[in-house]
Amino acid sequence: MKRRQFLKSSGLISGGIYASNIHAIAGIIAAKSEFTMKKLRGNTGIFTEKGGTIGWLISSDQVVVIDAQFPEQAGHLIKQIKSRTSHPVDVLFNTHHHGDHTSGNIAFKGFASKIVAQENSRINQMKSAKSRGTESKQLYPDVIFQTSWKTKVGNEPVKAYYFGPAHTNGDSVIHLENENIAHVGDLVFNRRFPYIDMAAGACIKNWIMVLEKIQQTFDKDTLFIFGHALDPKAVTGNNEDLKAMGNYLIKLLTYMQKEIKNGKSLDELLKTNSIPGAEDWKGNGIERSIKSAWQELTMES
Ligand SMILES: [Zn+2]
Ligand SMILES: [Zn+2]
Repeated sequence: MKRRQFLKSSGLISGGIYASNIHAIAGIIAAKSEFTMKKLRGNTGIFTEKGGTIGWLISSDQVVVIDAQFPEQAGHLIKQIKSRTSHPVDVLFNTHHHGDHTSGNIAFKGFASKIVAQENSRINQMKSAKSRGTESKQLYPDVIFQTSWKTKVGNEPVKAYYFGPAHTNGDSVIHLENENIAHVGDLVFNRRFPYIDMAAGACIKNWIMVLEKIQQTFDKDTLFIFGHALDPKAVTGNNEDLKAMGNYLIKLLTYMQKEIKNGKSLDELLKTNSIPGAEDWKGNGIERSIKSAWQELTMES
């Protein structure tokens, strides 16, 4: 292989050196993908490639996976699981229905004993697959819950919580209790303008309360996994990050309320570059926040 081609396929030109590509450098696999398997505490970790961050717990007799990205990415993760244990997936959770968290469910067919999700999340998953004509490509959750669901995988108690409408109307938080790891899905877009799915029942006001409830439910040692972050390394964090996400949403509503009162039009507000008092939230897509807040605030009056 020519050097340039080698560098390209090993990811050294286009980006950082990723765990998967260390194998490519060693000549073990010619990796086109650029995923990472990063260890957190004990047997837990995160998988990142494309879409919402996946959380995992993998040992010789217990496997938990939280979210599934897309089929190709899920395939990469499954390969990693199989290289570490002969145990199948005990539980696959979906934090919510969005495609970048659930399209990969199908790759777990016959490999995951069950898929667990909040009931609204499954309804949304079905609706969205139906409207896109992708029903045959979607594997739906087979266990649903309303407010909470608990199981034990090996010696690890695992609990799923639902705190009400926020990013959608079906966002859950999955807690690996021994390791004190909580995956909050897209309830946190860390320092990055969030997607707010009004069509699927999102509510910014309630999202703020949900973030407070999460801080009350867990503690300062809880390590949180976030669906998305501006800095790819910042997909995990602590209570302070939840507080900062809450602050972003509070400042968004405060700003919008004030400007609507001042008679500003939606078109004028869409020129906003950052939210006063929450300038640490950046990236593309501020208009999604502006439009959603506009919708939520003007629907009430
Ligand atoms: Zn997402
Ligand atoms: Zn989402």
